[in-house]
Order: sequence, then structure tokens, then C-alpha cells
Amino acid sequence: MNLQPKSAARDFDQQWSQVRGMLRAEFGETAYNTWLAPLSLGGMEGERVLLSVPTRFLRDWVAAHYADRIRVLWRRVNPRISGVALNVVPVTATPLAPPKTTPCPPDPVPAPIGNLAAEPEIGAPLDARCTFENFVVGQPNRLAFAAAKRVAEVAIPAFNPLFLYGGVGLGKTHLMHAIAWQIRSQDAARKVVYLSAEKFMYQFVQALRCKDTLRFKELFRSADVLMVDDVQFIGGKETTQEEFFHTFNTLVDRGRQIVISADRSPSDLAGLEERIRSRLGWGLVVDIHPTTYELRLEILQAKAGMIADEVAIPEAVLEFLARRITSNVRELEGALNRIVAQATLVGRAITLDMAHEILQDLLRAYERRVTIEEIQRRVAEHYNIRMADMQSARRARAVARPRQVAMYLAKQLTPRSLPEIGRKFGGRDHTTVMYAIRKIEELRAIDPLLSEDIETLRRLLHG
Ligand code: ADP
Ligand code: MG
Repeated sequence: MNLQPKSAARDFDQQWSQVRGMLRAEFGETAYNTWLAPLSLGGMEGERVLLSVPTRFLRDWVAAHYADRIRVLWRRVNPRISGVALNVVPVTATPLAPPKTTPCPPDPVPAPIGNLAAEPEIGAPLDARCTFENFVVGQPNRLAFAAAKRVAEVAIPAFNPLFLYGGVGLGKTHLMHAIAWQIRSQDAARKVVYLSAEKFMYQFVQALRCKDTLRFKELFRSADVLMVDDVQFIGGKETTQEEFFHTFNTLVDRGRQIVISADRSPSDLAGLEERIRSRLGWGLVVDIHPTTYELRLEILQAKAGMIADEVAIPEAVLEFLARRITSNVRELEGALNRIVAQATLVGRAITLDMAHEILQDLLRAYERRVTIEEIQRRVAEHYNIRMADMQSARRARAVARPRQVAMYLAKQLTPRSLPEIGRKFGGRDHTTVMYAIRKIEELRAIDPLLSEDIETLRRLLHG
């Protein structure tokens, strides 16, 4: 670490406080306080900013989730900065900094036997609407539904774990909640724990901080059914992975049921240790496919049926929505809710015209949504290469660079994940996509022509 002149140090302090402000605004108080507030400015090393983090665990988490963003934001206030490095500097005493996270619980007092209220809440609350009864079954989710139902009905796991995966808004969380509801109604004595992978991690950090990992372990290991949602967020954090893995094994050994969800298959989970990845695939792996028109229409009909007493929704309107809102069930519900809200609040009858009008902005945004294929086509045209080269294995710079630009734009302009993008580029690995994105980010910073190209393409794609 080199010593900077005093004024430079002051500048960096100032930049750091600006960056912190932006991070807080972007990620919100809770995430900021949990993950980012413990960072402190360690100094500079050439053009790299050194940030200190109190634990290895935090370092891994921040590196995986925030480091890129910190670098980008920092470059906004000081374009000379080339990167951010995270160093573990254990905090021995922090006189003026009271902990910003939840305070540690008091030492456990021996609780009277059977006093369940003394047990801290480790799971997350369940959504009352997410039951099996309210889940519309169709060809894309039939297998997932059957597997979830089976898990809820049998006391001895038939497959362990049940691994549900699929794109956002397709019903993974709904099915997990439904399992929990059904088990609760059948046998209230069975302990069902449902929580997001993020909450699992958060609790683990808390336990580490409070030197209370024993209680953490016991809490999770006492579950009869453990459901962890969105485990793609666990990738990369060695200590939590380790803990997750142990909890997992202990529960499986004791014959308890585990249900896991993720936005991709076990083999596509990045940053997960191989033995964990393969262990996750041991049970039953089921994917929920994107919705079909029929399923969308049925879901809408079911939802319309539930509120039929209050508002009448013509079949033509439901068909219109099912045809136009194709992304996922969450957006479909959102569109229906908007129409219903308008009808009940303003007392307007629901018609096709009215639906068009209310959803105008949504539909327009929808039409403007770019696909990876469009990006590839535009980029290929722009650089005068063949569309087939977006998928080809050719590595010549003249085709490799445009391909990287297309991957970069795909990440920026579509909601697709890295593995999904990789697949559209001739079945490339997600790490290749990640590398391409990094490369283009780096080049953009030093190559104004490339930067201009990308801006032009972005404008073209957004119409
Ligand atoms: P995911 O967890 O896969 O992102 P969710 O389970 O949160 O998706 O589903 C998004 C919304 O769509 C929820 O409100 C859920 O109740 C609803 N939903 C998804 N699939 C169905 C279905 N097959 N039938 C009824 N509602 C559904
Ligand atoms: Mg979910």
C-alpha cells in the first residue's frame, strides 16, 4: 500500500462517502447495513482502491455481489480508478461504531419444556394465497406440482432433495409455500422451515457475529422439512456453502425432507462446490417450463373466477392478456390486478378497449423488450459478420469481439442469466459470458470508439 499525500487521502475519503451514498440508495438500508456498512477504506494501491472487510465471509459475499458495482460507481466519481480489492482486516475494537445489524439475542435462559414461544423465528412467513388449491396445473408445471404434492403427503422422503428450478415468476415459491401449508394442516407437530437462501446466509452471518453458531445449527437441524428458496444466491460463499452442506447432510441422514429451489439446474449453479452441486442433484430435479398460452389463460380464468362476485371480466380480455403477457405468471397477475383495480376504484366496466388503454405503457415496454436473437442480429449487422458467427467456435478477433459485445448487451438489456446467455451463444459456459462482459467493460473504459459502438447499438435496439 503506498502512502498518498494528505490531500489525495482526503479526496479518496470524500469519494468513498459519495460511493457509499450511492450504494445505500441503490441497495436499500437493509442490504446496505448488513453487507456494505462494515466496509472501510483501507487506502490505495496504484489505481486500485483497497477496502477492508472484517471477516472472510463478508469479503466473499461482497466480492460476489457488490464489488463490481462498487467499482462502477467509484469510476463514476473518479474515472482513474481501475479496480477494487477487498482485504480481510479483523476488527478488534470499534469504539465509536455501534453495530448496525440486529443486536445479538441475550444468552439463552433455560426455557420451560414445551415453551415454543421461546424459540426464535428462523423461517419466513408464508403467503396465504400460495396453496395447492390455488395452483393451476398445466403441461409446463405438471411434474413440479406432482412432486411437490408428493413431498407434502408422505412422511418418509421419496426423493431427497426435491430440487425445483425454473425462470422467475413461474411458481417455485408458490409450490414451496403450498407444501408448507399442507404439512401444517395435516400434522401441526412436524416442523417445517421455509426461508430464502439469502435469509439463511443472513442468519448465519448473525450467528457468526454473535458467536452463536451452535444454536444456528441446532435450529436448522431440528427441522422435519427444510425448504430453501433461490439457492443460486449461495454460490461463491465458502463458509455458508459449507454450513449449508452440513445442515443438508445431517437432515438427509436423519430422514428429513429437503426442498430446494433455484433459477437454474444444479449443474448450472455457478460458484457452487462440485460435491455440493452433485449432492443437490441426487434427489429429484424438476424444472418448471415457461408458460404456454393455455396455462396462462387457465390461470387468468381461475383468478377471475375468485373475484367474479365483485367484477366481471369478459373472456376476450383474459384471452388478450394471455396472448400478450407471455413472460411469466407474476407479470400476468400484475396486469390483471391493474385492470381490476381500475374497474373497482373508478367503477368502470372492463372491456377490451379499457384493457388496451390501462396496459398501454406495459404493452409498449413489452414490445420494446429486446431478445438475445435481436441483439445478435443487430450486432452482426453492425460489425458486418455472419449471424452464424454468434454461435460459432471461431476465435478470430474480428468475430470474437463482436460476439463479446453481443453478450455484454444481452446481459444489460435482457433479464437473462449468464448460463441462459451462454446457451444462446452456441452453448458457451457462463464463465465465458462473464469473461466477455468483464472484457468489454474494461475495453469500454479505454476505447471511446467501442463505447460509441455500444451506445449506438443500444439506441438501435431500443427503437
Ligand atoms: P417464482 O418463485 O418461480 O419466481 P412465484 O411462485 O413467486 O414464482 O410465482 C409468481 C406469482 O405467480 C405468484 O403470485 C404465484 O402465486 C403465481 N403463480 C405462479 N404459477 C402459478 C400457477 N400455476 N397457478 C396460479 N398462480 C401461479
Ligand atoms: Mg420465488
